[in-house]
Amino acid sequence: MSEALQPWQWPEEHWRGVVDHVRAGRSYQPKSWPGGARCAIALSFDSDHETNELREGGESIGKLSQGQYGNRQGIPRILDILRRHDVRASFYVPAVTALLYPDEQRRVTAEGHEVALHGWIHERNSVLPEPAERDLMLRAADVLEKTSGQRPVGIRTPSWDFSPATLAIARDMGLLYDSSLMADVDCYELLLDGTPTGVVELPVEWIRDDAVYFNMNRFAGLRPYTPPSDVFDIFRRELEAAHAEGGIFQLTMHPHISGYRSRVWILEEIIRHAKQLGNVWFATHADVVRHAKANG
Ligand SMILES: [Zn+2]
Repeated sequence: MSEALQPWQWPEEHWRGVVDHVRAGRSYQPKSWPGGARCAIALSFDSDHETNELREGGESIGKLSQGQYGNRQGIPRILDILRRHDVRASFYVPAVTALLYPDEQRRVTAEGHEVALHGWIHERNSVLPEPAERDLMLRAADVLEKTSGQRPVGIRTPSWDFSPATLAIARDMGLLYDSSLMADVDCYELLLDGTPTGVVELPVEWIRDDAVYFNMNRFAGLRPYTPPSDVFDIFRRELEAAHAEGGIFQLTMHPHISGYRSRVWILEEIIRHAKQLGNVWFATHADVVRHAKANG
């Protein structure tokens, strides 16, 4: 029916079905965070590296080298900052990245961070047939467990691209949480066709994603249009408001985008600023979700 009709012709039953397929259910907003903290700080890094090029079928040696920078320079700079400030974070890793750089994943987990799902080769879920999406998610979980020594409990879909099947697959895999959707600032339960799945969402937002501000494409018009100081200002305002509300400050960065001398200071300044605000709890996404689910 939807193929034959224009959206303005859809019967109510159809557009309601589209909207209600994956929906935010009950909120998990805890009264306080561990240790009586006022604000949870959930920092995350999507270790896409070369997969941003590979997933498009690209073989550009220049772009692949930019991906390798993520492993050679981005990750070490980020891990160094996290270690100096004694902060735990989450790393979302495509299986192909984990296979290219198993040592990186072992180091990330050895330093107390979380490694979680981020697709096979950063494929777009919404263009895959369901059996392929399911197969890739299962195989990716096996690869992450093998390389990092940690069975992933969460997923962030590549490019935050969710197919109609993604949530059912996450539920069937027994995943604790997803971190790809945007219906709230607090954790919430994900409903599938109105039924609670038990999978918790820790919401993201493009506003709190470095790629939006810094991406560029040499052969198209895309250029970074926001200076790093302005990006920091946006993140800082998100942080201060989360702190004032007693909520979660969730942030997404990429080693191959922010792991540069002129940008990586944003991460360090955000951590410093959070500590200055005081009474904050730095935690992995998995730990934030566990606390919110148990106390929300
Ligand atoms: Zn990614």
